[in-house]
Amino acid sequence: MSEGSYIYLVGFGVEKRLLLAVAKSVKEVFKREVRLSHIVLPPYLAYDPHRRQHRAGVLLDFLTRVNYPRMLKLVGLFPFDLYEEGVDFIFGLSRLSGEHGLVGTFRLTSAEERLYFERVCKEVNHELGHTFGLLHCGTPGCVMNPSESPQQVDAKGRFLCEECNKILSKAQEV
Ligand SMILES: [Zn+2]
Ligand SMILES: [Zn+2]
Repeated sequence: MSEGSYIYLVGFGVEKRLLLAVAKSVKEVFKREVRLSHIVLPPYLAYDPHRRQHRAGVLLDFLTRVNYPRMLKLVGLFPFDLYEEGVDFIFGLSRLSGEHGLVGTFRLTSAEERLYFERVCKEVNHELGHTFGLLHCGTPGCVMNPSESPQQVDAKGRFLCEECNKILSKAQEV
């Protein structure tokens, strides 16, 4: 296990209120201290002008070069529409059992701010789960259910199921 103890949430132009809401939710689920930061991205990095989307893998590569003091995990929040080769869009990306993950908020927005924030909280918890080694889970309501539409995000909860929580605890043991 890494010596880090903080989960860093890094905003790339997303609302501060959103970061605060996500921080609260991450703390609740992963029982770790959360620190906030923000970075200005090099212009056009990962942007595909034909698709008018940002390529998630390029952003993740950029993120993996970012490290903070006593960092355990880092999740970047981008206000972008993200894609990967072969799919129309994705909500987020992370390295399984790695340290870095990211979420794009563009496709999670809603006229109702509470719903928008809730969706982002779920997807951040989902990607963080992957960084702790969690795979996709079929238990209804578990945040590790895969989501390919906002409706699927809405259908699941913000928390890990019992089984995923056990795996998380094991992953956090030294
Ligand atoms: Zn996933
Ligand atoms: Zn689960």
